[in-house]
Amino acid sequence: MFDKNRALVNGIEGMTDEQKEYLYSALNIHGHACGGMPMGYVAGLAAMKALGMDSRERNMSTIAIVYAGDGHAAGCFVDGVQFSTGCTFGKGIMKKEPKGKWQFMLIQKKTGKAVKVRIKNEILDKAFSAPFITKYRAKGVNPTDIPEEIAVPGFTRLFTLKPEAVVEIEGPFTVEVPKAKPCFNRVSCSVCGATVAENYIRMEEGKPVCPDCSRYTG
Ligand SMILES: [Zn+2]
Ligand SMILES: [Zn+2]
Repeated sequence: MFDKNRALVNGIEGMTDEQKEYLYSALNIHGHACGGMPMGYVAGLAAMKALGMDSRERNMSTIAIVYAGDGHAAGCFVDGVQFSTGCTFGKGIMKKEPKGKWQFMLIQKKTGKAVKVRIKNEILDKAFSAPFITKYRAKGVNPTDIPEEIAVPGFTRLFTLKPEAVVEIEGPFTVEVPKAKPCFNRVSCSVCGATVAENYIRMEEGKPVCPDCSRYTG
């Protein structure tokens, strides 16, 4: 799989070595060749360029808010945005505001400078009318069971287009960014004994409790 993924990414032109290396990682982590992940990947690169970023986010400097929802074909797109921008769910700098849209906002924390990116309707039309969706995914075939001759062209196609043919960008404009300091303190829950980050602990009758053991549901 790794050799195959490496060859697939090496065949793509017009990206820097760093962008290619992260695309290779993205393909490995995403787990299958499809048209959706590259859509998010390309859109992420376009957003970074519009914000004047010369590489993916470092040290929690950037936030991505994605407007894709759950239960519709968009998870692959969101992965692409994560991998190209470096704004991951794990680091807490990717948030989902589910609206069923192939769109996201990329925000620089320090300045509040932001852009909103949407995938062009024509690109979505093409992706959703491709056999990858119509003949396979919509009929319940798993992505890894789709023949390579169907999946690979969908993966490489977007990289042959100019970013402006793939996305529409609104901004840059300025948004307000909430300030939050990371918490490094741990507390033991007085009921279940779990180690809990201090900022999630509640005090009940003078004792620390975790959200699961708390009598309050709010
Ligand atoms: Zn996918
Ligand atoms: Zn507890």
